[in-house]
Amino acid sequence: MIYLDAAATTPVRREVLEAMWPFLTGEFGNASSQHTLGKRAAHALVAARETVARVLSCRPAEIVFTSGGTESDNFAIKGTALAAPRGRHIVISAIEHEAVLASCDYLRRHHGFEITEVGVDHEGKVHPETVAAALRDDTTLCSVMLANNEVGTVQPIAEIAALLHANATPMHTDAVQAAGALPLHVGELGVDAMSLSGHKIGGPKGVGALYLRRGLPVEPVIHGGGQERGRRSGTENIAGVVGFARALELASIDLAVRSHRLAGLRNELIAGVLEQVPGAVLTGHAIDRLPGNASFCFPQVSGEALLLQLEERGVVCSSGSACAAGRDEPSHVLLNMGYPREVAQTAIRFTLPETIELDQIREIIHAISESYTAVASLRTGTHTC
Ligand code: PLP
Repeated sequence: MIYLDAAATTPVRREVLEAMWPFLTGEFGNASSQHTLGKRAAHALVAARETVARVLSCRPAEIVFTSGGTESDNFAIKGTALAAPRGRHIVISAIEHEAVLASCDYLRRHHGFEITEVGVDHEGKVHPETVAAALRDDTTLCSVMLANNEVGTVQPIAEIAALLHANATPMHTDAVQAAGALPLHVGELGVDAMSLSGHKIGGPKGVGALYLRRGLPVEPVIHGGGQERGRRSGTENIAGVVGFARALELASIDLAVRSHRLAGLRNELIAGVLEQVPGAVLTGHAIDRLPGNASFCFPQVSGEALLLQLEERGVVCSSGSACAAGRDEPSHVLLNMGYPREVAQTAIRFTLPETIELDQIREIIHAISESYTAVASLRTGTHTC
């Protein structure tokens, strides 16, 4: 099997598992306990927070551990909106992850917020001036993702943040897909809040972090024993945060070199598919895209049928559309990029794991070409069986 769904999840790296293992076994203490076992757990928590802070170039106290990207997005959006709102207006891009969209929808339905969704161009880019034009005196927060999970387009976050700060509006970015692919220096990005998740970068599922700039007013959304300096209650997932911190640390080593290698292989894949599959359309930005993302629409054929054919040939990937529980709804990302419904429904996303090699890329191109021919011939009735 060739696994090309790294944007969905990644396996836990061996070094990460090794770092976690003691805290899943002998070192099982509760970080709030006063005895030695508890103190050792608390110490591991401090070390993990310092590691994450180093990668983000921020203070350890600015890191809150969460249960992953979804919770971080919920906390960033609802927490800042409910803490000290300048007003009840939020600006987001139209291609945000559901965790951002649904959090904003919750605020709209239950707290009277107005949400402005800023559009994107045909390559999925948010233009900073459109964000600036959407700002109002009562805008409490702006959230634009660092890189899109479906088409991989990377956004000009530093430019957007600079415009926001001129208006004193805080900025959140969902960096779940960008981690391990792009630098995450929060000062250079100019963001006030940033979401991260462990399982996209060789860490465990169910753990992540939210960077919250010191001084940013935030209301907790999970109440209880006051852990995480009162910002996120719940007994700390020590093994999880240790694994997350180790994964983030490993993902930040030689980032430029690794991203360059992966982007080279991705470019081979894109070029091969565009050359060999008639009508294939690359979705997302041609250059400013995640190094491991190659996403396409294959007009005239069913994306789902193509997925099945690819899996029969040992290639595992994902449809670009958000097909939730049997609903065959085309992706809001592609629709907002201006693709017609019937084209958006043919989307396939290939996201490369770091371990991919050139000979596999050739195999993949061959499998895509064969799968496409099989699906297209079924459609035109030329298949005989
Ligand atoms: N944000 C983005 C951009 C994502 O791609 C994902 C996961 O697919 C999430 C948030 C949610 O992260 P998690 O799976 O850790 O809840």
